[in-house]
Amino acid sequence: MDSPHLSREIVEELGAVFVAAVEQAGPTLLTADLDEIEQHLQAVGRRVWARVVEQTVAARAAAARPEPPGCPGCGEPMRLVAAARERHLQGLVGEYRLVRPYWHCAPCHQGLAPLDAALGVGPGALSPGLSRVACRLGIEEAFAPAAEILYETLRVDVPEEAVRRITEGIGAVAEAEQQAAMAAAQAAQEPPPAEGAPAQLVVAVDGVMVHTDGDWHEMKVGVVAPLGPATWTDPDSGRVCQTLGAPSVCAGLEPAATFWWRVYCEARRRGLGAAPVALVVVLGDGADWIWHAAARFLHVGGAAYVEIVDLYHAWEHLWTVANAVYGTGSGAAAAWVGPLKRRLVEEGVRPVLAALAQLEPPSADATDEVRKAQGYFTEQAARMDYPTFIAQQWPIGSGVVESANKTLITAREKGAGMRWRGTGAQAVASLRAVHRSGRWAAFWRTQPQRRRLPVAPRRPRPTPAAPPNPRAQAA
Ligand SMILES: [Zn+2]
Repeated sequence: MDSPHLSREIVEELGAVFVAAVEQAGPTLLTADLDEIEQHLQAVGRRVWARVVEQTVAARAAAARPEPPGCPGCGEPMRLVAAARERHLQGLVGEYRLVRPYWHCAPCHQGLAPLDAALGVGPGALSPGLSRVACRLGIEEAFAPAAEILYETLRVDVPEEAVRRITEGIGAVAEAEQQAAMAAAQAAQEPPPAEGAPAQLVVAVDGVMVHTDGDWHEMKVGVVAPLGPATWTDPDSGRVCQTLGAPSVCAGLEPAATFWWRVYCEARRRGLGAAPVALVVVLGDGADWIWHAAARFLHVGGAAYVEIVDLYHAWEHLWTVANAVYGTGSGAAAAWVGPLKRRLVEEGVRPVLAALAQLEPPSADATDEVRKAQGYFTEQAARMDYPTFIAQQWPIGSGVVESANKTLITAREKGAGMRWRGTGAQAVASLRAVHRSGRWAAFWRTQPQRRRLPVAPRRPRPTPAAPPNPRAQAA
């Protein structure tokens, strides 16, 4: 195999393309304001850089080895059907017409352009770089404004539907990786826990409702972060707390039994089960699904294990009772809750249970609320031992997971009138989780666009009389 190179002739030709483009642009540039100059040069640049990309790919195609690749289906040598098959891509720096050798295996009906693999080109019409930018926007914004921002910044016109397809398609790759990790963990074949694990881990879980497939469904969210040893002083309460390190997150539109495997995998990535981890603190609200299984998944290895009910959820329960007994928003309700909030923090559930026992509910509904609260505070008593937790400087509010709910899910998936297919909501959540967990760059180095399955367009199927799409063939 020759090593590919750009000949002197090609470099000079590219230089001439540049010179001609600037000459042609000259009259426009000389009369425009700077905004127009910049926009014009973006367009000029796309034409020039596209030629450089094309010539670079052509040089690599020319140097590619002439022997046939093995068919991915049957392993037999493939047949060269085109020495220079065209492929059109919309890219980050221009529109490219790439030509490269194309091979075929008749028995398997499989085509292959080996150079696509080397270049990291996947199915669809977007280059890897443009795919990555479109996904980055697609996980932050609704697909229509994402397409607008893409045009505003890069002057690349990618339709909203294409932004959706690439974001959900790449998100599906991220989710498939997650599912593979969960399957490996279930088969007890997970990789060893991460090295450099911290001494203490906090795991917090919660749920947020998302509208998918015609109804509201719970997207469960998990956050894992190292805890301490540094401390900070909460300005509101004056309490000294150990600092949380950079969190990583996961989210699943799934039953608790499945979601716990997802949380377990995330915790393993942060060191759960490794020798240095001496303490695992689990934070959640009172939801049954959390405390039903948390210990089974997170109380592993020799680490100490503590479960803590989020203080703010506990306070909400006080308010529910007070509103039912004294009237919603009444001064009497506030007068009952105020001191109890403080005593719950300073003394645990004992004074709360005593206060509940002394209430005289005015109605059957109020009686019911009091009874429910007594059950809740009794059942969760050990998880509300706030005086002990505070003395240890552990977190007692799941602010970390609630902010993850907001930044991971609510901000992107609960916009006004947003309706999702379940697979789309999960794909976007998984891709956002990759980004928010600091794994975005590493994920893209694995060329996820090569592994993605084409996402079906949202339009009726073409009639049989429709002409074949040459682009689909080349892909
Ligand atoms: Zn074959």
